[in-house]
Amino acid sequence: MTSTRPDPTLQPLLKNHPNLSYEGSKGLVMDGTSLTDIASQHGTPCWVISADTLRHRANTLKDAFKARNLPVHCHFAVKAQDHQACLTVLAQCGFGADVVSGGELRRALAAGIKAQDIVFSGIGKTDEELELAVQHQIGQINVESVEELHRLDALARKMQRRARIAFRVNPDIDAKTHSKITTGRAEDKFGIAHDVIPALYRKTQTEMSGVELVGLAVHLGSQMVTDGPFRKGYERIASLVHTLRADGLRISDIDCGGGLGIPYRDETAPPPSMLAEVIAETLGDLDVQLHIEPGRWLAAPSGVLLARVIDVKDAARRFIIIDAGMNDLVRPAMYDSWHGILPLHTPENMEAGDVVDVVGPICESSDIFARQRHLPPLKKGDLVALLDAGAYGTVMSSTYNSRPLAAQVMIGGGKQAVIRKRQTLDELLAQEAVPDWLLHT
Ligand SMILES: *Cc1c(COP(=O)(O)O)cnc(C)c1O
Repeated sequence: MTSTRPDPTLQPLLKNHPNLSYEGSKGLVMDGTSLTDIASQHGTPCWVISADTLRHRANTLKDAFKARNLPVHCHFAVKAQDHQACLTVLAQCGFGADVVSGGELRRALAAGIKAQDIVFSGIGKTDEELELAVQHQIGQINVESVEELHRLDALARKMQRRARIAFRVNPDIDAKTHSKITTGRAEDKFGIAHDVIPALYRKTQTEMSGVELVGLAVHLGSQMVTDGPFRKGYERIASLVHTLRADGLRISDIDCGGGLGIPYRDETAPPPSMLAEVIAETLGDLDVQLHIEPGRWLAAPSGVLLARVIDVKDAARRFIIIDAGMNDLVRPAMYDSWHGILPLHTPENMEAGDVVDVVGPICESSDIFARQRHLPPLKKGDLVALLDAGAYGTVMSSTYNSRPLAAQVMIGGGKQAVIRKRQTLDELLAQEAVPDWLLHT
């Protein structure tokens, strides 16, 4: 995001990323693995995800709730990072999954996450997707509208099943984040307006036999870095719970959503202990099973995107042109987001450097990773890492400009493995067909 604060230099950036450090001739090292080695073995652009960091963060998050004696079911938001190897790591840490499509549901199951530990959110679930969820008897479907409720109820009755559901509440609260990732205001497309919930809740629990309504869900937005909106949102949910119970209705589960932010730049992002505290204070006494759905906080700092400098172009500005583009990592172009950039070689001087624009090779003016950034001198052939690329990175990649999808490597416990091969141009072209009738005219 645009800001008048000076960019952090390398030192504070490293301080915010304890899984990264410079080790002399090895250069930048992530959880013990030299990123230069990875780039030379697998080429660039290349995603690297650390199973160690992912596991560490999953445990830190769980411990924050344990420390407050607050039992919570954790569901990883698959949309942030959907690779089955990552889902496997999180499943081993006791995480379920929050999915937003039939594809993600299939992935979660394929990675060994039990159906009962899966929550299905999503504003536009098709009949086929709802059917898949009902058929697998997943833990919970978060219903986003009256229309979806009726569709699901009819469908489940036809299948002679009863789907476990919660109502996704739109609490009409501004998450104070980028407008493209705020979801809890009345004008946003998500959820059911909080003022119509009580009547609908009664009707559902008393009249609908295809669904078992167990509670409420809320998700306010993403990259939230203050506790205020969380607190307001959960207070609104707590007051709804009191209203519903006063009305004699049953409520056993509350899904608190995701949204916890991270310090991409120099944000003072609150730790998971803040989230645990706010949830404990607002919902802790309600005698309900609590759920959370974090995505970004777990995955973003676990991944980097490696790229090589194609050219240094000296024009009105100095442009560092790298071989990763917005087709790989779209966040800066889509959300004006700021990503730390570090050279992979150990810089001679952490403070000295040039003011440069770091840009990708795509033919779009928005293909820019950093503007007027103070970086150690970079020349053609040098390698860099774009930080915090583990969430909303690979999952949003495209092949725009006929650029094959980049390779993905997982590191962990001193080992490494390619978890997705670099797509080849042949594979890219092989997916297309030219109709016969075009050729025989
Ligand atoms: C995107 C999303 C999440 C995860 O959000 P993060 O900001 O990545 O934690 C959780 N729940 C729902 C319903 C979502 O849409």
